[in-house]
Amino acid sequence: MAGSEAILFNKPVQVSLPGQYHRLFHLDLKRTPLKMDFLIKLIAKVKEWGVTGLLVEYEDTFPYNGELAELAIPNSYSQADLDALQQITREHEMEYIPLVQTFGHLQFVLKHSKFSHMREVAEFPTDICPSKQESLPFIQRLVDQVIQAHKGLKYIHIGADEVVRLGCCLKCQHRVEADFGGSLSSLYLDHVTKVLRYIKNQHPGVTCIMWDDMLRTANPKSMNEFELGQLVEPMIWNYSSDASSFKIRLQPTLWQNYSQVFKTIWLASAFKGAFGSTLHWTPTKEHVLNHLLWLQEVDKEISKIKTITVRGYALTGWQRYDHLSVLCELLPTGLPCLALCLQVLLQGGYSHDILERVSKQLGFTEPFQIEHPKYGDCLSTSDSFPGSDIYTGVQDLVLFEMSSRFKNFVTLNQLHGSMNPNASIATDLPMDHHSVEESAAEAKCLASQLDLIRKRVRVALTTVYHVITVEEWLELRINPILRALKMFVGGGSMDEVKEEDEEEMDVATRPS
Ligand SMILES: [Zn+2]
Repeated sequence: MAGSEAILFNKPVQVSLPGQYHRLFHLDLKRTPLKMDFLIKLIAKVKEWGVTGLLVEYEDTFPYNGELAELAIPNSYSQADLDALQQITREHEMEYIPLVQTFGHLQFVLKHSKFSHMREVAEFPTDICPSKQESLPFIQRLVDQVIQAHKGLKYIHIGADEVVRLGCCLKCQHRVEADFGGSLSSLYLDHVTKVLRYIKNQHPGVTCIMWDDMLRTANPKSMNEFELGQLVEPMIWNYSSDASSFKIRLQPTLWQNYSQVFKTIWLASAFKGAFGSTLHWTPTKEHVLNHLLWLQEVDKEISKIKTITVRGYALTGWQRYDHLSVLCELLPTGLPCLALCLQVLLQGGYSHDILERVSKQLGFTEPFQIEHPKYGDCLSTSDSFPGSDIYTGVQDLVLFEMSSRFKNFVTLNQLHGSMNPNASIATDLPMDHHSVEESAAEAKCLASQLDLIRKRVRVALTTVYHVITVEEWLELRINPILRALKMFVGGGSMDEVKEEDEEEMDVATRPS
């Protein structure tokens, strides 16, 4: 353990517990709706773990209607689903905060030809151009539909992070020079405050929240000229686990600057989906460190500024880095990490006792491993927490990939190629039949192990995800390896596997 990590892990539990803060569970649903049965169980469970509200990022799973109807994917939620989710959060006395993007990260809108004319740069569907006449009215309709679907809404999050192509078009460049004295951040503030003012006027009871990254380079004077502090509560995000990169993201002047503009702020950490867009196992220790760094930041820096109140944390769990990216770790594989990070926030520190308690609460027979999965991380029942079958199935996959038997096979066959049946075809040399046979036998054994894991994970996935996500994940994580192994065996192919899948699916969907 590196020095700074050891200090954080061994830090004594704080006296002043941050129990008064909100702890929002970020439910990222981009392109991947979770089944309602699972969600309802999950909401009750996260309440037990210490969550005080949901931050729901529907993106294309929201039931947009009328002229926006094509933004909703075929398996998006219905209004009745949304009503049920709000009802259950009300019963559990939790906050329900929808998040809708209003500037960048708008691929789910701008990828459609009907809306592509509003792009900042024609080739990229990421950002909307704030200088096109139709852009603001469009964003207003988008926001209106989301707010109207939530009765008695207290907060809405308008996103507005990572506007990567801000001010690229000629119209925007002209306005930056002519209207804003060359300031790109004024162009940003102009659009954002128009959206915020619209919400304030049309939906007076709703408080707005936004991501803060685009404000880190804006000066307080210009934020005050736009009256930003009267319109929004910023959510300051930082997912780093390493003390120096955590500090780089939060420059020493940041809190002073924000205190000149805002009275209330939110903080955002991460419990999954932040340490690589292609990970399939959550690096829990890194996420715990991220929460410990936040506790330290609140304790040492933010608490010094008496004019700022922290409303709470959002624990983000990214499903994809953006709309067009692959799936990060599946939500159920990150749930033990969520439960642990919540306790880190509630207890004001980390200790082995906390890990033991959380593990017991989750149904593990022993404290779960926070660095790498290990054999023997067992759950006492199959439904210890919602989606726990997925957790154990993915764990088996990771252990299979980490096994020396699999690694040796990959190393031998990829690096030397001597046992690859295709190699002799290319070189026209006689094949080493003994090696080829050995290799085929080993591949057969590994393929059958992986096949079993695949079948189990597939069944578990269908309880939480729709078929399209199940197929996406299997194609991303298992099918390519299985296909490669089967090539060595010579017999069997992925077509056969897929046919088996279809037969199983027929049985599963046949009316009884
Ligand atoms: Zn523009």
